[in-house]
Amino acid sequence: MTESVLSQIAALKVQLEEYNYQYYVLDNPSVPDSEYDRVMRELIALETQYPQFLSADSPSQKVGGEALGSFSQVQHLVPMLSLDNAFDETEFRSFNKRLQDRLKDTTTLTFCCEPKLDGLAVSILYQDGVLVQAATRGDGQTGENITENVKTIRNVPLKLRGESIPHRLEVRGEVFMDSAGFAKMNELAIKNDGKVFANPRNAAAGSLRQLDSKITAKRPLMFYAYGMGIIEGGVVPDDHFAQLQALGDWGLPMSPETKLVTGVDDALAYYQDIMNRRSQLKYEIDGVVIKVNDKALQQTLGFVARAPRWAIAFKFPAQEEMTQLLDVEFQV
Ligand code: NAD
Repeated sequence: MTESVLSQIAALKVQLEEYNYQYYVLDNPSVPDSEYDRVMRELIALETQYPQFLSADSPSQKVGGEALGSFSQVQHLVPMLSLDNAFDETEFRSFNKRLQDRLKDTTTLTFCCEPKLDGLAVSILYQDGVLVQAATRGDGQTGENITENVKTIRNVPLKLRGESIPHRLEVRGEVFMDSAGFAKMNELAIKNDGKVFANPRNAAAGSLRQLDSKITAKRPLMFYAYGMGIIEGGVVPDDHFAQLQALGDWGLPMSPETKLVTGVDDALAYYQDIMNRRSQLKYEIDGVVIKVNDKALQQTLGFVARAPRWAIAFKFPAQEEMTQLLDVEFQV
C-alpha cells in the first residue's frame, strides 16, 4: 500500500516538475491551469495524508520556476511567495474559519479584495524615490534582474512623487498585457512571421524576459501594484488598502477594482460581481485575491511554506483555456 502511494507521489511530482518547466522557464504551458491545479491538489492531498512522504523538493513546497541563467540574479530580502487557492464557496468559507480559529476571534474580518491579474509577479525597488532595481519572482528567494525592461513599462514611474516617501521602498505587483494590446501584438506577429503567444500571460512573460530591452519597450505591458516588500523610513499606513492608496499617491497604479469589504458574505459578493463582469474587463483575470486588511493580523497569521495564511486566490471555474490556447497555435 505505502509502496504504491510513494510511487503515485513520485509520478505526480515528475508530472508537475515538467508542467512547471514548460510554464515558468519556457513560457509555453503544455496543459490548462485547471489541469495543473488538479494534479497539484492530488499531490497535496496525498502528502497531507502521508506526511512521512513529504519532501523539501516537492513541487508543492516551491513557488515557481528557477531564475534563468541569462539575467543576473537578485536575492529577495523578503521572500516573494505564491498564494493558496480556494475553488468554491465552501473552500472560501473554510479559509475564513481558519483565520478566525487561528486568531481566536470570531469577530468579522475586513478584507481587501483585488482582481487576480493573470501576469507575472514583479518586485520594484525605489531608493529615495528613484527606481533602482526590478526583479522577477523566480523561485521566491532569487529572481532575475529585469530592471532595464521594467523601466520601459509605460505606467511604472521612474521617479516617485508626493510626500513621506520611504527611503527604501519595494513595490510588488503584477506585470500583464491587456486584451487589446495582446490581440494587436499577435496580429502583427502573424503578419511578420513572428512568435505568436498563446495567451496574454505568456506574452507578458515573454516580453518581460527579453535580453534586449528595446524589444520589451515595443510590447504593450502594464503594471498594477498590489503590495509592499521592504519599507525603510517614511510614513507608511498600517493596513493593506491604505498602503495601496499611499502607493497611488506616490504615482504607482493599482487596479481600480480593488475594494475593501467587511465579512465573508461581502467578499463572496465581490467575487460574484467580478466574475459577472469578467468579460468586460480590459485584461484577463483568473479569480480574485482576498486579503486580511489589518497588517498586524497578517503578522500574527504568518506564512506556510509557499504562501501567506492571510490571503487566498479565489479562482474562477475553469474555462476552455486549452482550446483557446490551441486555436491560437493553429492560426499560425
Ligand atoms: P498563482 O498564480 O495561483 O497565485 C500567485 C500569484 O498571483 C502571485 O505571485 C502574483 O503574481 C499573482 N497575483 C495576481 N494578482 C494578485 C494580487 N492582487 N495580489 C497578490 N498576488 C496577485 O500562483 P503561482 O505560484 O504564480 O502559479 C501557480 C498557478 O499557475 C497554478 O495554480 C496554475 O494555475 C498555473 N500553472 C500552470 C501550469 C501549466 O502547465 N498550465 C504550470 C505551472 C503553473
